Formats: sequence, C-alpha cells, structure tokens
Amino acid sequence: MKFATKAIHAGQEPDPTTGAIMTPIYQTSTYVQERPGVHKGYEYSRTHNPTRTALEVNLAALENGKHGLCFGSGLAAMDVLLKTFAPGDEIISSNDLYGGSYRIFTKVYAHYGLKFHFVDMEDANSINQYINKNTKMIWIETPTNPMMNIIDIAAVAAIAKKNNVLLGVDNTFASPYLQTPLDLGADVVVHSLTKYIAGHSDVIMGAIILNDDALTEKLRFLQNATGPIPGPQDCFLALRGIKTLHVRMDRHSENGKKVAEFLVKHPAVSKVYWPGFSTHPNHSVAAKQMKQFGGMISFSLKNDHLETAREVLSKVKIFACAESLGGVESLIGHPATMTHASIPKEEREKVGVTDSLIRLSVGIEDADDLIADLKQAIESVVK
Ligand SMILES: *Cc1c(COP(=O)(O)O)cnc(C)c1O
Repeated sequence: MKFATKAIHAGQEPDPTTGAIMTPIYQTSTYVQERPGVHKGYEYSRTHNPTRTALEVNLAALENGKHGLCFGSGLAAMDVLLKTFAPGDEIISSNDLYGGSYRIFTKVYAHYGLKFHFVDMEDANSINQYINKNTKMIWIETPTNPMMNIIDIAAVAAIAKKNNVLLGVDNTFASPYLQTPLDLGADVVVHSLTKYIAGHSDVIMGAIILNDDALTEKLRFLQNATGPIPGPQDCFLALRGIKTLHVRMDRHSENGKKVAEFLVKHPAVSKVYWPGFSTHPNHSVAAKQMKQFGGMISFSLKNDHLETAREVLSKVKIFACAESLGGVESLIGHPATMTHASIPKEEREKVGVTDSLIRLSVGIEDADDLIADLKQAIESVVK
C-alpha cells in the first residue's frame, strides 16, 4: 500500500460493535474479564488501549516499521528509550539538536551516568573518532533544528552497523511522508507527534517506531512500568490529523519553497537555511533521502542584533510568535530566547544559532499572504 492509503486506513478497522468508521475514543481505564485472565486482549489502559493501538499500528505502517509505541510526549518517548541504557554507556549525538533533547541528555541522563558526545555530523565520518567499547547509540536529527543541516542517514547507519551500535533518528522535522529512516538503515525512529504528524497544534504526544522485537519488548516493559502514556482522546486526534498528513506536507513544502525564495532575495536578509536550495551544503543528501524539503526555514538578518530579530517577531500579523512547529498555521520563533534558550550561548553560537536567527514553521495558508506578512514585518523594522 502507498503512503496516502496507509495514512487513512492503516490500523483502522470499522468498530466491531457498531460499524463506526472512525476508531472510537476508548475512554476507559479497565476492561471486564470473563473470568480472571480471560479477556479480549485488553486488561488495563496503562498497558494497552484500543485507540492507542490503532495509532501505533498506523505509525508503524507509515514509517515502514514493525512496531509502534505511543507516549504522552516526544520527550517521554526519548525518556523511555534512554532508560534502556545503563550507567557508563555512551551516546554520540548530532550537535545541532532540539533544545529539549539536549536538556534531557545533559541535565537528566548525564546525572544517571550516561555519557554524551555532541558531534558535527555533516561529514558522517567525524563520528568514528568518538566510538569506543561503551558506545551504545548514535542519535541524529535531520533536518536539524534550527539550522536545517542535513545528515546522511544511510552513511551514519553504515557506521552504526559496522560498530554494532543502535542508530536512533528523531524524524519530527521531516515526518514519515518526507523521509523514512528505517528504510535507510536506522534502528529506532522517534517522533514528537505534537508537530507535523498530529499537525493541528492541539495535542502533545510522542512515538517510537522500530523493527527489533526484543527492543520493543523492553520499551513496552519500561513504558508499562513507568507510565508515560497518551490518553485515548489525544490518540484519536493524532489519528484524525494523520489522515491528511500527505496533503499537508505537500503544501508545507510548496509554501516553504516560496517563502525561502522570497527571503533569499530580500536585501535585509543575510542568510537563509533551507535544504531545498541547491546551494545548501548537503542539498544532494537531502535530495537523496527526502521526498521534498518541508516548510521549516531559518534565516538571519544583516542587522544582526537580538532586539532587531525580536522586533520582527512582534510585527508579524499572520505568523504567530510561538514555540512548536508543524501545525497548519504558520509560526515564527526566536531560537536564542525561545526553543534554544536552554542551550548555553557559546554552545548555540558554535552551531550557528546567533542572536538574530529567526525560525519559521511555514503553515498551509496562502503563500502570498505569508510572504506579504514577512515583508511588512521585516521592512517595518529594518529601514
Ligand atoms: C518538539 C520536539 C521534541 C519533543 O517533543 P514533545 O512532544 O514536545 O515532548 C523532540 N524533537 C524535536 C525535533 C521536536 O521538535
């Protein structure tokens, strides 16, 4: 089955009792057993819930994976994945990272004895020097947040395989419609469903998708033992959002291209980071591993001051100044003081998150209106 058909149908059968075409919201904590231990496959909703199961099956299908697990947030998914490691284990992570991922690594799991290396992976071979007998996982985000760097998933997967370590990919920015890391050799895909997958800025959820049975078993055990689950209503909303994922991603990418092309020509703009440009340093890798280039764009102003950037954010009328990304509505953010405020200034400037960097999540409104909005905001600030 192709993507669009899976998005709408995978995991979703008409409800067996009524024929309802939409998977019901099974708002229940427990399930009646005929006799102790004799039940219909469900016992307690921390462990399983049918609405959640439908979403898990659907997500596994979209990522071409065997198993899916859903969590109360993207970070809860990462938390459970990190719990599979032991003190002394080492993880090599790409260095341009979602702020919350950097925070859970350095402020939570470092404290429990995991060791993290943050590496510029634009050349995958730079990973090799950090691999040792304690290395257990390579962790990447691509496109990266917020610099839109592209990491070659297949090249990193080859290094991971050769050294017998896991490759985990945070696929939030691309969504499975634009990129399927498991097909490129990754072992584990993590999502913040909050973003493109649910797509309507109305839920916080996460997921892990993978093929390995033993690791799935371990993750399910940890999830059940520690409890970070989503509620059934949120699962329903995510399933509903996914039905249009392919349509939305086409439009996000189309609008992203138009906005990026507008910005790159604007005299007040110094740099535009978008992997669809043929001048992007890893454009050829992006073209190889992504179906389209998405609607995430970062740019900086020639007038490179924190206050100038913040002024632009206060002048937009359609773009909303907010954290998050991937919803149908366009958002604008200032990484240095918003999403990446938890990363020290020296660290963030090393990867290019300067004071004037502005990040856009281009929505699916009319592209002409979005461009006009950015134009008036930039021109009212930079004269
Ligand atoms: C938002 C985000 C997360 C965290 O997900 P939550 O659902 O907010 O917990 C992880 N990775 C990336 C790339 C994100 O954008």
